[in-house]
Amino acid sequence: MQNLLDLDGESLTAWFAEQGEKPFRAKQVLRWMHRSGVADFDAMTDIAKSLREKLKLRAIVAPPAVVSDKLSDDGTRKFLIDVGNHNAVETVFIPEDDRGTLCVSTQAGCALDCAFCSTGKQGFNRNLTVAEIIGQLWQANKALGAVHGDERIISNVVMMGMGEPLANFDNTVSALHLMLDDHAYGLSRRRVTVSTSGLVPAMDRLREECPVALAVSLHAPNDTLRDELVPINQKYPLKELMAACLRYLEKAPRDFITFEYTMLDGINDTDAHARELLALVRHVPCKFNLIPFNPFPGSPFRRSQAERVRRFGEILIQAGIVTTTRKTRGDDIDAACGQLAGQVQDKTRRTSGRVIPLVESRS
Ligand code: SAH
Ligand code: SF4
Repeated sequence: MQNLLDLDGESLTAWFAEQGEKPFRAKQVLRWMHRSGVADFDAMTDIAKSLREKLKLRAIVAPPAVVSDKLSDDGTRKFLIDVGNHNAVETVFIPEDDRGTLCVSTQAGCALDCAFCSTGKQGFNRNLTVAEIIGQLWQANKALGAVHGDERIISNVVMMGMGEPLANFDNTVSALHLMLDDHAYGLSRRRVTVSTSGLVPAMDRLREECPVALAVSLHAPNDTLRDELVPINQKYPLKELMAACLRYLEKAPRDFITFEYTMLDGINDTDAHARELLALVRHVPCKFNLIPFNPFPGSPFRRSQAERVRRFGEILIQAGIVTTTRKTRGDDIDAACGQLAGQVQDKTRRTSGRVIPLVESRS
């Protein structure tokens, strides 16, 4: 049985061809599944009954199940999505005046083990399938009541949930194709953002295969500190990362890179760090997004004081860099950024037989 949610437009067309069906049939089914949120072939009324029967024998439309759905006082809504084997990932919808942003996960856990990240601390279980990635959008659309008509409740997607999108490259790119496809979600490239901890070769591939807006998790102004905080830096140090950002901008839909910078008290948040940062990025058109650290159990770090974050941002702003500080949203339902926990059974630490408990929080 083929889960049709695992296929982007091109693969779905190829699959229909294998079944002896015309390409426009693939488009029709794509629209039913993604635009109308339909999973039942019988409800696809403009498709001949004989084809529907054939599809029922060979395919399913199987989105991952929503295990919980919590609404915060500020409108932030967090979905816990079942990805099997006692694993679950989080998807967060953040409504704002001029947009609705869905924060999507790409892996159960993450192997990159950044020092301050709760997802990383849970270890890595597995890559999400295309159906599990795009299924987050599918389920959120349904829950938000956006499946009827063309109302764009979700106008933006950020791949900033659990996992490193570029470490699950092929599935992430297929899911991106569906987000951009006019027969599926029809989002603008500028409104879909991939966030990466800096996998340089994969950044180059993304630029060629599916350039969307890019956010890079910087968190430190020099290699010594970044080697500690973001261990992948030992493989792709800052000089290479900055060069990759410049190459990416040649084909990016936006003319800047967004640098994410988690503010850790006494670690990376001094005036001197801010000035060192300015020197580091001086050739890269960029914006900064400062993220006050979200603590989680067992973490040795503390959040920088608000005044420190303000002062740090001011140094960047005075140098002409647009800098925003991420608001903490959805506190009351533990739906804050960068601390997504979900529920991950870590295969890399299985020897202890330990099941990583559900720890949730998010800024
Ligand atoms: N793996 C990708 C995307 C997911 S994390 C990446 O690293 O870019 C989204 C952002 O939240 C990243 O910038 C990440 O470094 C940051 N983050 C992780 N843990 C955090 C925490 N506890 N507090 C604040 N930000 C955190
Ligand atoms: Fe993985 Fe991103 Fe967390 Fe680092 S910050 S461990 S790359 S999810």
